[in-house]
Amino acid sequence: MGALARPFPKGGRRNLHVFEDFNSTREYSVKARNSGRWVGLVPTMGFLHDGHKSLIQKARQETDPLVVSIFVNPAQFGKGEDYHVYPRDIERDIRVLKDLAVDVLFLPTVLAMYPDEYSTFVEVERLSDVLCGAFRPGHFRGVATVVLKLFNVVLPHKAYFGLKDVQQLVVVRKMVNDLNLPVEIVGVPTVRAFDGLALSSRNAYLTPDERKDAARIYQALSKAKALIEAGERDASDIKEMIQEYIAQAPGFSVEYVSICSFQNLQELSSITGEVVIAVAARLGKARLIDNIIVG
Ligand code: AMP
Repeated sequence: MGALARPFPKGGRRNLHVFEDFNSTREYSVKARNSGRWVGLVPTMGFLHDGHKSLIQKARQETDPLVVSIFVNPAQFGKGEDYHVYPRDIERDIRVLKDLAVDVLFLPTVLAMYPDEYSTFVEVERLSDVLCGAFRPGHFRGVATVVLKLFNVVLPHKAYFGLKDVQQLVVVRKMVNDLNLPVEIVGVPTVRAFDGLALSSRNAYLTPDERKDAARIYQALSKAKALIEAGERDASDIKEMIQEYIAQAPGFSVEYVSICSFQNLQELSSITGEVVIAVAARLGKARLIDNIIVG
């Protein structure tokens, strides 16, 4: 990244602009770009936690102005999924964004994003059909579409995505490459609770007992990492261990365990290079996903 046109301001509160409409957001961004500043974007669905905060803090260090979007995107939820009950608390989120010295909250309405007879969608082939895509048909089509729309309104130089949703990151990177979008995608490490559970807005669905069991996912991933570091190379043995370890807690139903390439999410039988070990499992009302990158 080139030098910032003016030194990055040191912390402290700033005026948070809350824009619902596309024009105000784009005009703000165009002005900043025209004065040589680097626009950052952190797309979220709100109900902000420390995972989101880590993305925002990284973006805050590298870009100015910083835009955070909050939009619970109906296009990425399937029928029967949790779109209507997805946790929302916009008042609290605004306080968080003010504390983190964010410049703009972009808060579009569903109708503005998807007016009647909306009909254009982005399909990132193959990468969207594996892992979570196999269990959530259409999910990554919804993600790619909304991310491209956000890019087109916010016009960021850099956009920040969590490694917790590793498939989302890979899909977005591919879209940016394939469509020659002038945006740099930055991946940010997963933030975890004290017991290793990856922070997620959906953890709010867990009962106290389920919350205790939920830590098994990260425990299993850590055991897998230790096995690989000790020389294990057989992917199916490791996947079996993960599956069995998680399933020891009776409430769990594992959707998939995958060991795949970080570059293209292709399933591997033998472990070499940089691999992702990824898990999705249902526990009570929650669908939990997590992964670690090894090598
Ligand atoms: P969401 O609001 O769940 O759509 O997440 C918005 C962004 O925050 C996505 O790029 C996520 O990958 C990222 N994110 C969510 N949870 C975490 C976490 N625990 N650690 C790091 N990034 C996260």
